Amino acid sequence: MDKLVSLCKRRGFIFQSSEIYGGLGSVWDYGPLGVELKKNLKDRWWRAMVHARDDIEGLDAGILMHPRVWEASGHVAGFTDPLVDCKQCKQRFRGDDPRIKGTPGQSDGQCPACGSRGTLTAPRLFNLMFKTFMGPVEEDAAVVYLRPETAQGIYVNYLNVLQASRQKIPFGIAQIGKAFRNEITPGNFIFRTREFEQMEMQFFVRPGTDVEWFEFWRHERMAWHVALGIRPERMRFHQHGPDELAHYAKAAYDIEYEFPFGWNEFEGIHDRTDFDLTRHQQASGKKLEYFDQERNERYLPYVVETSVGADRTALALLCDAYHEEQVEGETRVVLRLAPSLAPIKAAVLPLVNREGMPEMAKRIHDDLRGRLTVFFDDGGSIGRRYRRQDEAGTPFAITVDGQSVQDGTVTVRQRDTLVQDRVSADAVAAWLAERVAP
Ligand code: ATP
Repeated sequence: MDKLVSLCKRRGFIFQSSEIYGGLGSVWDYGPLGVELKKNLKDRWWRAMVHARDDIEGLDAGILMHPRVWEASGHVAGFTDPLVDCKQCKQRFRGDDPRIKGTPGQSDGQCPACGSRGTLTAPRLFNLMFKTFMGPVEEDAAVVYLRPETAQGIYVNYLNVLQASRQKIPFGIAQIGKAFRNEITPGNFIFRTREFEQMEMQFFVRPGTDVEWFEFWRHERMAWHVALGIRPERMRFHQHGPDELAHYAKAAYDIEYEFPFGWNEFEGIHDRTDFDLTRHQQASGKKLEYFDQERNERYLPYVVETSVGADRTALALLCDAYHEEQVEGETRVVLRLAPSLAPIKAAVLPLVNREGMPEMAKRIHDDLRGRLTVFFDDGGSIGRRYRRQDEAGTPFAITVDGQSVQDGTVTVRQRDTLVQDRVSADAVAAWLAERVAP
């Protein structure tokens, strides 16, 4: 992890938030390469979930919602983790932290950080939602929350979308957006942060068909991660047992990745039944039933949810792509990102800065720019320039050499195989386009 975090900073993928002020706990900023990687990832999700399907519509709901949404959803009452403080070293832990020995709040409770006994408070409930105030007065009546998940924006809009799009059940609504959780134990870089992005899809189905759709979506989502290039042996399903299920779920699977710090969830697939729509119907007093014309019956749909973190998936991609290998006696660090996800698709490099090579390389760069993300680099030895691009995950490097100026061909070096092909400069755009398409 340390190597990856340092590469992310060095190459401009991810920086700590407000670093010059000492950093803000568990908030991270995406730099020039990171923002491209995350955007490519979100685009692939949107294309697979919305554009490639007739039965899913997109939505972009506000982060702030009516506070009663969060009462109805159960978040105001139930979105809490018991929390234990050490009075000695001031560190905080989840009440169920396996490293805690003895009973917190009693004399045998032992702090896992400083080792003191009897200094842990009894577990206290802690709401994970960030609160703020709407309007000029900071009073209880003006409280609003930063959404802790994007799903609720979908539930409260489901009838709007249904009517406007003329969809019929089964159909889904997809959304990408920020979510905020005042996590007690954030950490592991961008794995658990207090501000993050979710890509969620809620699929509305006739009750009784939910199990079938749940199975469909969990396999579909795993196949999507494989298509991104994540090694299948590094992923697995984890089925929630009865004691793990969230208050809203009848069945749940996590898709886990083997991060350097162990197997952990990065996507959840949940059969949420009619829990959310029932709660919103009761709390708002508005009928949210669907009229099924073919069957001539009215019902509240069941919901199958797929919920994946853009940041956690980006972390899985980075961990999976990171390789160190020996090439000609030197260690090469390379990010083997799929070309469609790579922030820069190709680097354009004049072999040396004379004999017309920089001019020709510039012309090629200018021609490609606007069609693909390309990077011009004429600084330092060619070997060093290749290494920099390997670390950035750039799949192709176009080198303009002495022969290029003579016959109008360039070499294209492939990041993973190190194979170099000679391609006509005129054909290089088409050559690349074919290889970077998802
Ligand atoms: P965890 O148990 O790891 O906190 P969760 O079960 O609460 O996760 P869900 O509520 O199912 O997570 O959220 C769906 C997805 O949103 C997660 O799989 C993860 O990718 C992402 N996610 C949730 N919380 C965070 C967070 N604090 N930081 C980054 N991503 C998150």
